[in-house]
Amino acid sequence: MIESLLIANRGEIACRIIRTARAMGIRTVAVYSDADAKALHVRQADEAVHIGPSPARESYLVGEKIITAAKATNAQAIHPGYGFLSENADFAQAVIDAGLIWVGPLPESIRAMGLKDAAKERMIAAGVPVTPGYLGADQSPERLQREADAIGYPVLIKAVAGGGGKGMRRVESAGEFADALDSCRREAASSFGNTDVLIEKYILSPRHIEVQVFGDSHGNVVHLFERDCSLQRRHQKVIEEAPAPGMDAATREAICAAAVRAAKAVDYEGAGTIEFIADASDGLRADRIWFMEMNTRLQVEHPVTEEITGVDLVEWQLRVASGEPIPLKQEDLGINGWAIEARLYAEDPAKGFLPSTGPLDHLRLPSGKARIDTGVEEGAAISPFYDPMIAKVIAAGPDRAASIASLEEAVSSVEVWPVRTNAAFLARLLQDADFVAGAVDTGAIDRKLEVLTSERPISVALFKDAMDKLVLADANLGRLFSDPASIPGFRLNAPRSFNDGLYVDGHHVTDYPDNDRFSTAAYAVGGAIAIGFQDGQAHELSLARRGGGHHSAHDGDILSPMPGKVIAVEVSEGQAVIKGQKLLTLEAMKMEHTLTAPFDGTVAELSAQPGAQVQVEALLARIEASA
Ligand code: ADP
Repeated sequence: MIESLLIANRGEIACRIIRTARAMGIRTVAVYSDADAKALHVRQADEAVHIGPSPARESYLVGEKIITAAKATNAQAIHPGYGFLSENADFAQAVIDAGLIWVGPLPESIRAMGLKDAAKERMIAAGVPVTPGYLGADQSPERLQREADAIGYPVLIKAVAGGGGKGMRRVESAGEFADALDSCRREAASSFGNTDVLIEKYILSPRHIEVQVFGDSHGNVVHLFERDCSLQRRHQKVIEEAPAPGMDAATREAICAAAVRAAKAVDYEGAGTIEFIADASDGLRADRIWFMEMNTRLQVEHPVTEEITGVDLVEWQLRVASGEPIPLKQEDLGINGWAIEARLYAEDPAKGFLPSTGPLDHLRLPSGKARIDTGVEEGAAISPFYDPMIAKVIAAGPDRAASIASLEEAVSSVEVWPVRTNAAFLARLLQDADFVAGAVDTGAIDRKLEVLTSERPISVALFKDAMDKLVLADANLGRLFSDPASIPGFRLNAPRSFNDGLYVDGHHVTDYPDNDRFSTAAYAVGGAIAIGFQDGQAHELSLARRGGGHHSAHDGDILSPMPGKVIAVEVSEGQAVIKGQKLLTLEAMKMEHTLTAPFDGTVAELSAQPGAQVQVEALLARIEASA
């Protein structure tokens, strides 16, 4: 057995590998770039080696530095994780040539599956059904166009060297083909340095089904059943589950057998995944499931397979790399229950899923039943250099409904701030009726994007709790009502109208009678800020300081800073007022508070009546600025 292992990766997967290695008594060596000097994987490993500047091209992607680090620390083996150098056959070969153990398949197997066209040829020879299309060597635009016409639109142009959803173009009609080909080739040239493409029939109602396979150096290959990764955004997986909904035993048997044939065809050793695409317009049928590609490494979504099979795939990788046979026979493997994973990302769904980098000042990941695979912790930061994943959240249960319910609960309880996350989006996705019914395909997210990314109202309970914390925090800052000219009013961004209930910046503050899951935290950042977390969404609430500086249209809303009683009204509707002029007096907490005009203007609205009891945040008056 391997006794020491260098992990040529970072983040959650480095931590994941360290966890198993440690449990097996294997000494671990981490590598890290400048940006990762204080990263979790560095502290979890027994040793760590700095390998260069933050950009991956200068650190995690430099094979020589990694091999040097392994030699310097007497590591016997290198585990590449996923991404980075994991599917780089030259690196695998260099590791072997350096006398080290490569935790992965033979370089020849990686090469055989590296280019999509060659891989498909190989699969056809092995009797594995592949997506109908054109794989030819003739790459002239005329020939490609003719082939696409013959296949029938829509078609998908794929860069043969593509990966990660890049280098693919869907073409709807013959007229669009030439432009799409050009653009696909441009992307392929800059991303992969290879402009060859293949053409595939574009599968409508497609589902992404993949099979986990495992081989060893003794010629054994087993499968560990399928995963369904149909919930994707821009061809990137968002939610993965195992097994696949609607998969019957005969269909499973057929595709898992095809996957084993595929792995055997390339003498596969270690963990691999055979990806299939299914035309699910008529359910899952064995004659409508085709090979798409093989990933010659551990997948991001491997935990769902671990949860249903009880196998630690990293442990198997390390055993097989040490020369041991696969620990279990095919007949000893079975599916137990259901598991589902969500990828929690630092990104802003409201802004087109733009990565959201910055400090993780507040980070609470679900601590209950869910399994959390993460590489960050509170106080760390999401850097712009790498994939902005925060964690994988994995839930398992006796059946699909139970695992979805616990995952939904888990992602709903995620608290991250100030970095934005997709947690609320994930929660919404897991509540989606079609998804819950198992009606998934790769276009589902795009079709429902608006509903999935719109912001929901915050609950009254959250609002009140946040305001209580704010009053406290502000009092602690010694500023509560200390300056009568600047009357604090609670607001979320900018308040708008309070006609029926509370409306804050267009977000209805509403009652969630039976679904009120929230928590709040207060921070002193300049002034006090309360952060309300509700169903995965973070809401910032602050004490608005009135007057001074420029103001927006809503700054003229005079809100009751706390529950109280109006004891005097000094102005009338339509009256001109000057900045600082007394508007009304409120009695609250046995003290009198004077509310004044924040700027010169007129009293556009006056809802306060002497003697009236008012709620916190009630609109008492509205001042319109004079032009
Ligand atoms: P990559 O290597 O970039 O990940 P894949 O070939 O694995 O590319 O395809 C990525 C995703 O694109 C698949 O999961 C699927 O959603 C979609 N896709 C691929 N081929 C087809 C096809 N022929 N028809 C429809 N969708 C496809």
